Amino acid sequence: MASPDDDLGFHVLKEPADCILWREPGRINGPTKLFDCLETFEDDSHLKRLLLKCRECGQLYFYEFYEWIDWEEGDDPQYWTYIPVETAAEIEMLKEASPFDLMRFTPRLQRDFPNRGKAPRLIWIR
Ligand SMILES: [Zn+2]
Repeated sequence: MASPDDDLGFHVLKEPADCILWREPGRINGPTKLFDCLETFEDDSHLKRLLLKCRECGQLYFYEFYEWIDWEEGDDPQYWTYIPVETAAEIEMLKEASPFDLMRFTPRLQRDFPNRGKAPRLIWIR
């Protein structure tokens, strides 16, 4: 069964094998000077999208911070996503994708902070 979203498909990007973040994803926790911000695509309190560059190796990452607004609870789940990119075409594709569509891209570093006391998660999804 085809749905309108199927034409977007799934995208496998190149693994950032030489980047410290690939081996030590915990580096994104807490204050970090790991990145330079090259470009800002979205800058909202609930949605931020940036193009980041690793200061150590030059790897580019499409970064998204997304807060799911749950008006009833007020304790909103938050998601941080880092997707390694190389080309302008990849960056354009990610700019056009919705927060949910980012899940079609691998590998990606995902940091989730769900609400209701669930444990945060930090994982490379590939
Ligand atoms: Zn790096």
